[in-house]
Amino acid sequence: MTAINHHLDEVILLDYHRGRLNAGQSLLVETHLEMCPHCRTSLRLFDAIGASMLEDIVPVDMADDALELALARIERPEEAPEPRVAPELPAYLKGIDLPESVRAAAFKPRYWGAPGVWMAHLDAPKDGRGLTYLMHVKGGMQMPVHDHQGLEMTLVLTGCFSDDRGAYHPGDCVSCDEGDHHSPLIAADDCLCLIAANAPIAPKTLLGKLLQPFARI
Ligand SMILES: [Zn+2]
Repeated sequence: MTAINHHLDEVILLDYHRGRLNAGQSLLVETHLEMCPHCRTSLRLFDAIGASMLEDIVPVDMADDALELALARIERPEEAPEPRVAPELPAYLKGIDLPESVRAAAFKPRYWGAPGVWMAHLDAPKDGRGLTYLMHVKGGMQMPVHDHQGLEMTLVLTGCFSDDRGAYHPGDCVSCDEGDHHSPLIAADDCLCLIAANAPIAPKTLLGKLLQPFARI
């Protein structure tokens, strides 16, 4: 894999650390972390800073039986957690070299959003206007120009695409926000990305507008 040049935004990483991201955003962050030692180090730094802040907290008076109660809670036998069974990989993902986080996630059946483009949404409860999906685009295609109406994170899993800001390879994470617009160009090989968006995109071309209902993004 080529070196990762585009990393997670520090604010996103901090929100992940604090448990503030939705299921789709967390999956994208975990997948990038699996691929990127640089961001894993940043996350460890947040952990260390958080731990040291806990150590610096000024002690407060507690009830006489507080320790007893806490110990009783720890010693209470917990019900064994349900063993987590990874969902079977859908046929459309078999044979693709995927990070473990993506393999362990559940995706709905894929559908064709446009000629040469298929998508598969994450099988997770709906969270406001948020959308999380895999997008697979045939090599050499150019996506229609579109605006963004909220934060959208795109993580390249296979292949490569570029826009006016640079080229993105496996492991790279690209963030677009409200007001950004671009027209990604896919390199020669097919490209598979994981996308977590806070809001649907806004196509700028007639073709894009015509295709949006089929694309469901
Ligand atoms: Zn990174």
